Amino acid sequence: MGRKRMLRQKSDCPPGASAHRILRVGLAIGLALTLAGCGRRTEKSFIAVTIEPQRYFAERIAGNRFEIYTVVPPGQSPETYDATPRQMLRFNQCAAYLLMGSQIGFEQAWIQSILDNNPAMKVFNLSEGFRLISDDNAESDGHHHHHAGGVDPHVWSSVEGARTIAANTFRAFAELDPAGEQLYRENYLRLTDDIDATDSLIRAELAPLGRCAFIIYHPALTYFAREYNLEQLCIELDGKEPSPARLKELVDAVKTHNVKVIFIQQEFDPANARRLAEATGCRLVSINLQAYDWSREMIRLAKALADE
Ligand SMILES: [Zn+2]
Repeated sequence: MGRKRMLRQKSDCPPGASAHRILRVGLAIGLALTLAGCGRRTEKSFIAVTIEPQRYFAERIAGNRFEIYTVVPPGQSPETYDATPRQMLRFNQCAAYLLMGSQIGFEQAWIQSILDNNPAMKVFNLSEGFRLISDDNAESDGHHHHHAGGVDPHVWSSVEGARTIAANTFRAFAELDPAGEQLYRENYLRLTDDIDATDSLIRAELAPLGRCAFIIYHPALTYFAREYNLEQLCIELDGKEPSPARLKELVDAVKTHNVKVIFIQQEFDPANARRLAEATGCRLVSINLQAYDWSREMIRLAKALADE
């Protein structure tokens, strides 16, 4: 389903329905043979995902039945990363690509050529059903949430996003491998319990703070702020380094909004955040929203905000 839509969006001539069905059937047979095992040790199918948190959700649900391959390496931004020629070859081994699907830069730039080179690959959209924030539906609270590119792609940096990703990941594996559906469902339910527990821990940390504001270099916590009624102020503006006027604005905002924490991310130069922290006395906290252990990183975020 995701693939058809993607092709329609990006190309004027989608493949015929019958050709599509043949590919699907062929893939299903290939998968069935791979998974049947026949007593011999057979190679597992790879499933491609864009970033490490997706691998976390996929492995929690798929167990040992698939090998999950993360495309964007640690420390690289999934908004600007380019696939290497070696990676382009590696996609031949992947039965499917689980797209973040939130218009993130890497996928926007590369998914079409990946599919052109691997026409049998299935594609799923893990953000399907999630309410994305874009320039068109800006949920403004006076400080605009503009993310360069118009749509905020950071669905995974929120609990609501995690629920959507988990549900869509489950559906993807059930479709790819119906024989494993029962296992995927059990794993999925266990995962949603853990997501709920993460949510409760975050709420417990944030409850005493009321509505608080934080500063972050790149606006990667827009959805997190939305669901916990926090205010996100970002240092960069339209994807660029801030002007001196912008920095001055932020120094003032620290006082008026009672900001205590400035988050820095390894994909971005921390120089301006450091300067701001020195000028205001805010705590500088390094976060990694591409960490594999999604739950731990989300709780760490909440604790950093709550820490006095
Ligand atoms: Zn971003």
